[in-house]
Amino acid sequence: MKAFQVNAPLDYAIAEVEAPRAASGEVLVKVAFAGICGSDMHIIHGDNAFVRFPRITGHEFAGTVEAVGEGVENVDIGARVCIDPVVSCGRCYPCRIGRPNVCSALQVIGVHRDGGFEEWVNVPAANVHLLPEGLGLEAGALVEPYSIAANVLERMQPLRGDRLLIYGAGVIGLTILQMARALGIEDITVIDLIEERLATARELGATRTWHGKEDVEAAARELTGGEGIPLIADAACVPALLPQMLRIASPAGRIGLLGFNPTPSDLVQLEVIKKELTLVGSRLNNRKFPEVLERMAAGRLDPLALVSHRLAFDDMPGAIDMLDHHPERARKVLIGIGADTGA
Ligand SMILES: [Zn+2]
Ligand SMILES: [Zn+2]
Repeated sequence: MKAFQVNAPLDYAIAEVEAPRAASGEVLVKVAFAGICGSDMHIIHGDNAFVRFPRITGHEFAGTVEAVGEGVENVDIGARVCIDPVVSCGRCYPCRIGRPNVCSALQVIGVHRDGGFEEWVNVPAANVHLLPEGLGLEAGALVEPYSIAANVLERMQPLRGDRLLIYGAGVIGLTILQMARALGIEDITVIDLIEERLATARELGATRTWHGKEDVEAAARELTGGEGIPLIADAACVPALLPQMLRIASPAGRIGLLGFNPTPSDLVQLEVIKKELTLVGSRLNNRKFPEVLERMAAGRLDPLALVSHRLAFDDMPGAIDMLDHHPERARKVLIGIGADTGA
């Protein structure tokens, strides 16, 4: 079968590899669509310390069940499914207190083990979620980025009437925007440096957008009469912006952080303590797939609006090259693996 394999940093190709078979407790999925994520790009560049090469990446995908291993009873052959990439041990401290997405022995499908950029992939049965009737396989491949949004918003504990500021109008910023609207957050500002992305944010319902080159601190003061903004989500993931977020946040504000960057930030303790700010990290998702699927099926999220490119599997190396050199040209790139993209 064909697989997109990363052999070493910046050494990748569509390769011929042996097809997996459904192992005990696992489900063999025939992949239909898979999305390329910024974190796939980090793996391809060798910037993810958890990855051992060679690796078949891809953690945003959907397909149909081809076979089930021994003991699997939650899913039938032929079912249309999407896959939560978080595989946890169930025994460690975070698992015991209901936080399996930060399991001490975390295995992420497409990072620590092979993922969805292949024609067939084996995944634990517990990670498979049925697509509701009427929800397509393309949308199914996009559940994972919304699970990131659902997770960070839950970590930020929004209250009725809270304003939200989102840094970054890339795909994750846009999923946070859509999910926040679905949760009933009404006043949402989005900041980015790329005008096209800001236009997309406005199309998808942002109340207003600010260009990062503006004096956003002054704009925030003016907007709130000096009160500050209670909810700030960081989907720009630029460590140097954290001090600004602390200044923009209102007292008792909550800041959700998603960056995976080892560079230190200049965090001013005084800002945190005098305002009693809450800074929360958010990693992957803590069992958010059912909630995302429910909201998608109800038409409260618009996943296909995120898709800028639909490409055939053989065109994937070219897509990686495009994302490397012209990231501003793309939102979500969806790869048709066992399904026709019409491309
Ligand atoms: Zn991702
Ligand atoms: Zn664990």
